[in-house]
Amino acid sequence: MKLKQIRNATMIITYANKKFLIDPMLAEKGAYPPFPHTHNQHLNNPTVELPVSMEEIIDVDAVIVTHMHLDHLDPAAMELIPKDMKMFAQNEDEADEMKKAGFNNVEVLKEEGTLFGDVKLIKTPAKHYSADSILDIYRELQFTHLASGVIFNHPKEKSLYIMGDTVWYDEIKNVLEKYNPEIVVVNAGNAGFDDGTYLILSKDDLFEATKVVPNAKFVATHMEAVNHATVSRDELREYSEEKGFANRLSIPADGETIEF
Ligand SMILES: [Zn+2]
Repeated sequence: MKLKQIRNATMIITYANKKFLIDPMLAEKGAYPPFPHTHNQHLNNPTVELPVSMEEIIDVDAVIVTHMHLDHLDPAAMELIPKDMKMFAQNEDEADEMKKAGFNNVEVLKEEGTLFGDVKLIKTPAKHYSADSILDIYRELQFTHLASGVIFNHPKEKSLYIMGDTVWYDEIKNVLEKYNPEIVVVNAGNAGFDDGTYLILSKDDLFEATKVVPNAKFVATHMEAVNHATVSRDELREYSEEKGFANRLSIPADGETIEF
């Protein structure tokens, strides 16, 4: 498989000769205001430009949207992705929203597995907040707290787990134990609210995950592209060296491809 880091959580994954675009946020740098109630209110989103052409980004066989927050499916992506593209959604509500936006080939990913050609995709749970207090903020902003991950399986490929936007909790540990993925993509920017609660994995959470599947390799994405990220690539690299898992962690730059 090839994992091409585009920007934020947006990646192009070539798996069993099929190309998947994950979580497309395709606007130009600075197109959106910062997320309210979060760190770094002086930064607009996305905080960096796309590293490759739009033609390359949308030249895929399917799009997987782990959840419909702005930094995972934005108005620019809704506009630029062809309406007959195969779109995978995490639930019926989000599938309906995609259909309303004109997409005519939308399917909901299932926990028991969904086939795309001969690639099996399995929806996995995710919890997009670190404390119950965050729920009020979500409600106020009418943000969903529902997010998801996905596992890729094919007889000729290593198993791949995209964890999605989640904090570390029992269900993630369960997924790692149950599926024992060989490659794990983690959203590692530790984005957070200004009350100290956070929305995606911290460095310590990632370290916990590496202990659950000691043979797996990890790839860090969702870094250095949105205002509320609190961990940089350099910081994460240093931390992984300190803790002794640097040899199992790739932190691709935007535009970089990793092959497994
Ligand atoms: Zn996100």
